[in-house]
Amino acid sequence: MQAKILDGSATAKQIRAELTERVEKLKSEKGVTPRLSVILVGTDPASVTYTRMKKKACEATGMISDLIEMPAESTQGQVKDVIKKLNDDSSVHGIMVQHPVPSHLDELDILATVAVEKDVDGISALSLGRLVLGTADFLSCTPLGIVTLLEKYGIETKGKEAVVVGRSIILGKPVALALLERHATVTICHSRTQNLPDVVGRADILVAAIGKPEFIKGSWIKEGAVVIDAGYNKVEGTSHDVGDVEFDAAAQRAGYITPVPGGVGPMTIAMLLSQTVKAAEKYA
Ligand code: NAP
Repeated sequence: MQAKILDGSATAKQIRAELTERVEKLKSEKGVTPRLSVILVGTDPASVTYTRMKKKACEATGMISDLIEMPAESTQGQVKDVIKKLNDDSSVHGIMVQHPVPSHLDELDILATVAVEKDVDGISALSLGRLVLGTADFLSCTPLGIVTLLEKYGIETKGKEAVVVGRSIILGKPVALALLERHATVTICHSRTQNLPDVVGRADILVAAIGKPEFIKGSWIKEGAVVIDAGYNKVEGTSHDVGDVEFDAAAQRAGYITPVPGGVGPMTIAMLLSQTVKAAEKYA
């Protein structure tokens, strides 16, 4: 079998085109331009790249985007004061704090400061709690990108055996909850899981969210499975990136598979834009 590609780049492009129309409508009918404020503390090179990509993507969709760059030595109070001002600013509809913040800061406490109606990144304690309750307005963007990609390709989750490898707050846990919400039977694996190849081999839908290049071997994959690779790993000494799944071998067994790059990554940014437009529509 040669897996069909779940094309995140093409799907994200289509979503962004739809968002451009919604933004235009909001502007012309309600006089509201969706606005996202991104806070970057420090100069971590990957974070600098990601925040610039987000700003460019917002602007290409007709939205306003502010990139608020704060020095690495900023205090907890200074970062929270910036967030509080954005919470009170009615022209701002979405706020996101770029992860990770410098280690002297308490990230969870910072995220808890973001007003829930502006938490378009969906990872504050309140948003995550609402996800558990099934009442969240906003979901963490990578998990939302994953379930949206499945929906766009008409892949059924109901009653399917889903295995998520990874249990981070931004990815593994929320994607597992999102799949559970969509009636999959979900298993979450992590670094202490026993017999990982056997557990992975049960998956009708596999989500790899580990951060280790090609850690999941193609031979572990069940024939016909849907493989979602959220991993994004630099290959030392080269300019290319690989996922957490051994792509070529997995594509021989899977029914569908996401490429890296061009799979989950572009969907993540599209979801950030989408949730900001949704927040602006609610405000309007
Ligand atoms: P993370 O916080 O480091 O979490 C990694 C998870 O993998 C942990 O739960 C860890 O288990 C688990 N793990 C580590 N080694 C394992 C092993 N040998 N067997 C089974 N599980 C193992 O990483 P993250 O932030 O979730 O990111 C994961 C990957 O997704 C990274 O490559 C990251 O770059 C990528 N990512 C992509 C996007 C995107 O937009 N495409 C967005 C976010 C992240 P323990 O909990 O037991 O330590």
